[in-house]
Parts: sequence; C-alpha cells; structure tokens
Amino acid sequence: MNRRNFLRRLGLTASSAAAMMALEPFSALAQDNNDKPSSANPMTYRTQNRTGDRVSLLGFGMMRLPRDNQPLVNQLVDYAIAHGVNYFDTAPMYGGGLNEGITGTALSRHPREKYYIATKMSNQNSQYWPFEQAKEMYLNSFKQLRVDYIDYYLLHSVGGDGVDMLKKRFIDNGLLDFLMAEREAGRIRHLGFSYHGDVAVFDWLVDRNETYHWDFVQIQMNYLDWRHASLNKSGWKQDADAEYLYTKLDKAGIQAVIMEPLRGGGLSKLSDKHASMLTDIKPDATPAQWAFRWVGSYPNVLTTLSGMNQMEHLIENVATHSPLQPCTSAENALLEKIADGMAGMPLIPCTTCAYCMPCPYGVDIPGNFSFYNDVINNDALPDPTAADYNDRRLRFVDNYNQAIAAEARANQCIDCEACLPKCPQQIRIPNQMGRIVQLLRNR
Ligand code: SF4
Ligand code: SF4
Repeated sequence: MNRRNFLRRLGLTASSAAAMMALEPFSALAQDNNDKPSSANPMTYRTQNRTGDRVSLLGFGMMRLPRDNQPLVNQLVDYAIAHGVNYFDTAPMYGGGLNEGITGTALSRHPREKYYIATKMSNQNSQYWPFEQAKEMYLNSFKQLRVDYIDYYLLHSVGGDGVDMLKKRFIDNGLLDFLMAEREAGRIRHLGFSYHGDVAVFDWLVDRNETYHWDFVQIQMNYLDWRHASLNKSGWKQDADAEYLYTKLDKAGIQAVIMEPLRGGGLSKLSDKHASMLTDIKPDATPAQWAFRWVGSYPNVLTTLSGMNQMEHLIENVATHSPLQPCTSAENALLEKIADGMAGMPLIPCTTCAYCMPCPYGVDIPGNFSFYNDVINNDALPDPTAADYNDRRLRFVDNYNQAIAAEARANQCIDCEACLPKCPQQIRIPNQMGRIVQLLRNR
C-alpha cells in the first residue's frame, strides 16, 4: 500500500490532512502531551540513559524541509509536537545554511520543554578548523535556534578522510575539549557524533569513551545496511555494516540515534517482487512502515530520524510509532531475505541528501542517481544477457531524457571530483555517472 492509500484508510487525503492542520487552533496543538503512551498520545518513547530524557522513537529530521515555506514547516512541527514527537534534528550546513533558522522559528512557538533540539558542529570545511571560527559556528546555532541550551550536540559527519581529518577538525584545535566543557556547564545537555565512512574513526572515538563519555552516537542503520553496507558492489566505500556499529555502541553502553532508516527513500519504494513479499504478509502496511518497525525493534535505539517534508509522510510515520509494533522474528527473517535480494542489485547507495550539490558543471547528482535506482528497483533494466535487454535499455534512455534536463545529465560530468569529499556515503560519484553514461551510449 502506498502512502496515498494509507491516508485514504485514515479517511484523509494529503490536502485534507494539511487543511485539517490549518484549521486546528495553535492552542490545541500545543496542549500537554504528557509524554506517556496513552490513547491521546500513544507515541513510543525511549529513555536517555544519563539524563532520563523521554525521547520519542520517531525523530524529526529537518534537513529536507523547504527553505521558503515557513508556514508549511510550522504546520509540520505543530502536528509532530501535538502527536508526541519531541526530537528535532538540524545542522548549520543544512538548507544552504538556513535550516537552523527555519527550525528555530517553528519550534520557538512552542514551550521549550516540549522539544529537544539536536544540532551539530558542521566544520567539514577547513575555514572552520581554527577554534575561533568553529566557536562562532557553535554560538550562532544558539542564535538561529533561539535557545540558551542545546539538548543534543554532535560532531557532524565524522569518518571521511580518516582519523587525521578528525584530529584536524576536533582534537588539535581544542574544540572537543571546549564542547565537553560546554556540556559540563549545561549549555550542551548531551554530546555525541554522527558517523559516515571510515570505521577507523568510529572505533577511535568509541574506544575512547572513558575520556569523552558519549551520550549518543548517530549511525546509518536500516535492514539493508545491517549486513550489506560493506558488501555493496557499487563502488561504495563504507567499511562497516550497521550490525557492527550498533553492536559496538550497545556493548559500550552508548545509545544510537538512527539516520537513513529508509536508506534515502529506497526502502519505501521496493521493486514489485520485494513489495509483494511484504503485502502477502500484511496487505495494508507500506514498505516504509516495515523499515521503521525493523529499526525501532532494537532496544538501544534512542530515536529514529525521518526527514519529513510532506504532511502525509508525517501522519503515516507518527501512526507507525504510536505505538511501534516491534518486528517478530519471522518478520525479521523476511526482511533479511529481501535485503539479500536487494544486495545483489547494482544500486547506487545515494540517499539524495544533496550535500554534494551544486555541481560546478550543472549535473543534478541526486536526480541522476535517484532515477537510476528507481529503474533498477523496478527491474526495468535486466541483466545485459537478457534477450530484451536492448529494448529495455532504449526505453531507459527515452525515459531518462524526459526526466533529466540536458544540462543536468550524467554526460555533463567532467570528472573534476569537486563533489567527492562532500558525499557522506563515500560514493565515487564520477564513476557512477560513468555507469549511467555507458547505458545512454550505443543508441
Ligand atoms: S565530478 Fe562530475 S558530478 Fe562531481 S562535481 Fe565534478 S562534474 Fe560534477
Ligand atoms: S551522491 Fe552522496 S552527497 Fe550526493 S546526494 Fe547522493 S548521498 Fe548525498
């Protein structure tokens, strides 16, 4: 069942859901949710080990919210808070630098105790490696978010370019010592890091937990990456499976915040073959609901972030977590089987985060990869040995030319590599563009 059908079952359409929210008075939205599962607020919560925060298992990833539609952002935030969501994740680098401000504007309309804010030290760019520049970024987060303390603060996206880079960004400049002192002073309530890429960096930080006392760590985890992150055949350099990351955190007593539960949306639009394996068991459940239930079944998960920019997604995700029904062992086995099947597909592990954009040569990087993945997911491009391969490839070419503007196509990529260091998934972007170009050739 797709999201539209799901809403229909709730008696809502996307527009009626939005209209419903527009009509609901703000005072009603801001009412006390009591933070406990009840008929009024059946959201599932997890308790943060050190401070006892009761964190909603569904967290709101603000990254993909529009920059130019504050009323929509307000509406989404109001609905989320009214339905028990209390964890909101942003970063200085999201939304062209505007996301923290948009988030602060929406959240500051609610009592401060109604929400936890997570933001980050996004000093990936060398201009922020000197202590004073990084500190300025940190202080600006308070201003943008309109708060005098930050609930969850992360070293943003550690793992790219190894331990040396980690030291340049956080250790040698004294920044991590400063952030720990800020935690001591109460301006940061919990300190953690988000990880992508080189597992040596993850190990380095977790192995020093006695020194840093991490309150949480954000990792990418979904039923495909659980055992297939490091085996991906698409040139993806992620050298640890989510199973390794999660288990290591669990053993260290550090709670996990989960990103990419749908793996950039890929697990919400399965191939017909895989989707029918799920609908055979639960005809009314969407693939996204399965993926969220799988993640939420792990007890050391503090919250699962979902980047929601449409009311219908938010309504569905709230329903999935209110309360969350953990997967049974038979359901886990089914998802594992689907993951095994997907791992054999030549997907490009792009989460469409757009960190790599803009490309100086105009290539729409996430657009190209998302189009390609949709085709592969739907079995529309068979193995080159198949009898109808060329017919299907030509259809691919026609559809591609309609979907992607000429100036944004893969063949505009000149292999300059400017995008490479920006991709948290470590995708060899120009190589993958080459794969698409190859398919477009030989018409
Ligand atoms: S390598 Fe290709 S896609 Fe990446 S920035 Fe350069 S031209 Fe753009
Ligand atoms: S290529 Fe990498 S940085 Fe670009 S959208 Fe995909 S995952 Fe994000």
